[in-house]
Amino acid sequence: MVLLTLILELLIIALVNSNYTGYKVYKVVPDTFEQLKAIDRFHYQPHFDFWQDGTTVGQTNNIMVAPKDQSDFEADLLKNKLNFEISVDDVESFLNQEKQERLMTRTFLSLGQVTFQSYMFYSEHMAYLRRLANDYPQIVTLDKIGESYEGRDLLLIHISSGPSDISKPVIFIDAGIHCREWISPPVALYIIQQLVENPENSYLYQNVDWYILPSLNPDGYEYTQTHNRLWRKNRRLTAGAECYGTDLNRNFDYMWMFDGASQDSCTEIYAGPEAFSEPETQALRNWFLNNTELNIKLYLTFHSYGEMMLYPWGYARVLPENFEELHRVGELAANAIGQATRINSNYLVNSSAILLYPAAGGSDDWVKAIAGVDLAYCVELPDGDAPFFFMLPARQILPVVQETFEGVKAFHSYIEETYWNENL
Ligand SMILES: [Zn+2]
Repeated sequence: MVLLTLILELLIIALVNSNYTGYKVYKVVPDTFEQLKAIDRFHYQPHFDFWQDGTTVGQTNNIMVAPKDQSDFEADLLKNKLNFEISVDDVESFLNQEKQERLMTRTFLSLGQVTFQSYMFYSEHMAYLRRLANDYPQIVTLDKIGESYEGRDLLLIHISSGPSDISKPVIFIDAGIHCREWISPPVALYIIQQLVENPENSYLYQNVDWYILPSLNPDGYEYTQTHNRLWRKNRRLTAGAECYGTDLNRNFDYMWMFDGASQDSCTEIYAGPEAFSEPETQALRNWFLNNTELNIKLYLTFHSYGEMMLYPWGYARVLPENFEELHRVGELAANAIGQATRINSNYLVNSSAILLYPAAGGSDDWVKAIAGVDLAYCVELPDGDAPFFFMLPARQILPVVQETFEGVKAFHSYIEETYWNENL
């Protein structure tokens, strides 16, 4: 049965036709603030897709543009004296290559196993979590915090050495909110595997509890596997909308729609008809609001790509009160990754506030402002040792998950020292 499902899924992958023939990806690096603003306008245009957001003057943007828009787009760049290079000449051929490699690297997994040699299906992610809960009942519990629009379980794994007299600090991690950023769920799964299945790491959950949700947008993730590799949003058609899907990371209710988000359902930054309109964001919100007694001290949400450790606020160019601590702790993690990297990852630690492009309605802003978690980071993972964008090849999953785990350990040691040892 498992084998049959796998064969069917592989067949679907092989047969699916995306339609990106003639689409190009433009690499644009602004030199002035005016040029930055000129590029930013394209976020709000339907069918312009930022594969990479430049953070400030001198940083790279990669923007996918449909054939019908290319001459106007190039004229606009010229008018603003913006030079460009073509990063991808034909997105369709690029995706076909990626699909080939994916089919070649696909490994057969028996039920409940995990791999970092190839990208897993959502059903395999969940089977792994269920197997761990079954095999390690002393330290693992599973909580279904809700369902996606299409009815897939949103599973949260809790890893703990058990109750204690003093309230333990908690680390909360989620992944996969932007479903095409495929490296994000494996990073979460690797942390889970290292905590639960590698006895050397058992010290990591002695005094600190972990809650990890590896797949926050499973409908979208399935859709990237079977229909469109470039899909980013969820899969609900909101009432009256022309295009499918809401950008879940613009749908959280803190300064919702303040900036950097759109009410046009055909943009990639559609914030939904109202804040928390989507079942996936509602599930996360409800979990946080139902667990206010927990001592949650750190929130990490994994995205790709850009090698950036970003802290709030994202909604505008404003810094939170504890920005110095956020910056310092972010540097600790970034340095740990830098020392461990085998693919030359070099993280920039920055406030989203310094970004040119504000993005209101993100999960990290909400978790900090409303759920009251002091340390919140959006981690933009690497794109590998070549510009693979978010189509990181399977052979580079392992180096990314391993180096990221070193960063997570650095976060853990700060949390343990600051919030556990001080209580002893
Ligand atoms: Zn993202």
